[in-house]
This record gives sequence, structure tokens and C-alpha cells, in this order.
Amino acid sequence: MPDSEFEIVNRYFASQAFGGEDIILGMGDDAAVVSMPADKQLVVSIDTLISGVHFPLPTSAEDIAWKALAVNLSDLAAMGASPAWFTLALSLPEANHNWLAAFSESLADISSAYRIPLVGGDTTRGPLSVTIQVAGYVEPGRALLRSGAKVGDQIFVTGSIGDAALGLYLLQRQSESQVGTDYLSRDLIRRLNRPQPRIEMGQALQGIANACIDISDGLFADLSHILKASAVGARLHQAQIPLSEAAQQFLSENPPLRSTIYNRGDDYELCFCVPAEKCGQMETMAKEQYCRLSHIGEIVSGHDLQLFDAQNNLLDYRHDSYDHFMTKQE
Ligand code: ADP
Ligand code: MG
Repeated sequence: MPDSEFEIVNRYFASQAFGGEDIILGMGDDAAVVSMPADKQLVVSIDTLISGVHFPLPTSAEDIAWKALAVNLSDLAAMGASPAWFTLALSLPEANHNWLAAFSESLADISSAYRIPLVGGDTTRGPLSVTIQVAGYVEPGRALLRSGAKVGDQIFVTGSIGDAALGLYLLQRQSESQVGTDYLSRDLIRRLNRPQPRIEMGQALQGIANACIDISDGLFADLSHILKASAVGARLHQAQIPLSEAAQQFLSENPPLRSTIYNRGDDYELCFCVPAEKCGQMETMAKEQYCRLSHIGEIVSGHDLQLFDAQNNLLDYRHDSYDHFMTKQE
């Protein structure tokens, strides 16, 4: 059983120290040394996952590791950045071999899948929490911001929306009944635990999208950040919001959960705004990327987010995405 920080790092994380020529010195010294490509800007983000807050207590070590890096990569995707390196601050209640082995293996899987090396970190004893800081690169001035949306832009999302929110709903009820054991539920729960950050799409949207965000708190909340930063409004068409087959089937059996999929959920898809004249270019690019894209609405003047049904009636929806400092959780 490893006990010192040194032993834990050596045994579980040192082997993850692959890296490109920008990593001059990785783990093992007082700090890492990296060199910056001369013609790039550095994009930096950090996110913490706390047990019981960001993932339910029984979540596996593999899923925690995957998600901790995935949510950070998703922020790089939303900026249009390419992954460079990351650091890891781990707080653990105990040095449990099985947990650490599973955690570090899964972390190595996602870090090699996205070619982003671990260059350092910190290990402490305490309640389970995982903080990852990522760095990425963009060409100067090419980062995708929230603030560039213009009236007339068309609004798109990648993939499908709401699976993660339904997955969480199912997990929270799993202990009470047999819910969550069929294949449909497993698909939804997998979307919650194993987000696939849209790194390549983010980069390909440079020069095409006027504004971009990743969906981490729910489609409406995150699109609202774009609207606020850009001082515009939006009209969305409910029938065009893409749902997976699993979500459609689940909602047909549980219609009241429909607002959950717009107002909750960490899907880690991208939501972005494209001027009409670049939509053709964008569609060609999305086909090359084999990425499902859905046109869900348009940017208008004002500051409201309005949702319409297929007959163009304005719909009411609860605007209650997850906010850690508000007490309106279910
Ligand atoms: P210091 O006391 O100088 O902060 P530490 O003992 O915290 O150094 O860390 C020693 C080395 O191990 C450093 O290079 C640090 O980056 C690395 N390290 C510690 N914890 C982790 C971790 N969880 N993941 C990756 N590297 C780590
Ligand atoms: Mg330290």
C-alpha cells in the first residue's frame, strides 16, 4: 500500500509523463518547465470535481478520472484551443491501491486519447476531490469567445442534448428501484460519466463561429452566457433541439422531464453562433469531421431567450440550471 505522496506520484502518475518538445521538465522537481511556441497564445482553465457535488458518491474511480480531464478539455474545445498539458491536484481520504490504480489508468487513457500530458500536481489527504488545470494553444486572436454573437447569426449545437441530465436523474433514483439497469439507461448514464470533449470541432470552428460555449450547466443557461456577453437575444425552436434515441424514448415515457434536458446537465457539447454566409462552409467542415450538427435557432436583438414549438407558439420553461451558490436544487 503506497503511503507517501512521493510513492503515489511515482507509482501511479510518473508513467504518464509523455510529452512533446514543449515539455522541458515534467513531474518530479519543484515545478514543471514548459516552453511556449513563439506564435501561439496560451489558453488556461481549471475545474474541480468534488465527491457528492459533481459526481454521485458511488461513481467509479475510472469515471471520475475521465470526467475530471474531459470537462477541462471541453473548456479548451469551447475556446477553439488545441490541448497542450495539464496538472492534477488530488485530495484523497486514503491511499487505496485499487482506487488509485483504476483512477490513474483511466486518466492515462483519456490523456493519451487527446494527446495531453500530465506535467505535475499535488497530492494531499482530505475529502475526495480532483482539480485539473489544462493549458492549450491558439493562434493569436483566434480564440472563440462568448462575446462575438451578432443579430442574424444562426445557432447550432453538436451531438445531442440532455442525455447527461437524464443519466443523473436515473442514477439518483437507482438505489430506490431497478431503474437504470436497462441498456437505454446505461447509454444515458454513460453520457453523464464519459463526456467526449469536442476538441476537433472547436478548432475547426475558428474563423467560422462568432461565439462559442460548451454546455456544462444546461443548454439554456450556457446559451444565456453567450447572449449576455454579446448583448443579444435568441429564438430557439424546440423541435430542432437534437435528442438521442435514448432520450426520446425516455421522455416519451416521462414527459414532465422535458424541461430538465434544457435546464440541467453536463453534456459537454458545443453551442455556437455562425453568420449566415458561413453556414455552408460550416456544414462541409462538420461532414468532414463526422460530427452531428443541429441548427436550433437564431440570434435576435434584445436580451431574451425564447423557445417556440412547431406551431411557433412561445413556450414557457423553467430557467433553473444548476448553480452551486443558489439553493434551488431539486
Ligand atoms: P512540492 O512539495 O515542491 O510542492 P510535491 O511533493 O508536492 O512538491 O510534488 C513533487 C512532485 O510530484 C512535483 O513535481 C509535483 O508536480 C508532482 N506531483 C505531486 N502530486 C502529483 C499528482 N497528483 N499528479 C502529478 N504530479 C504530481
Ligand atoms: Mg506540492
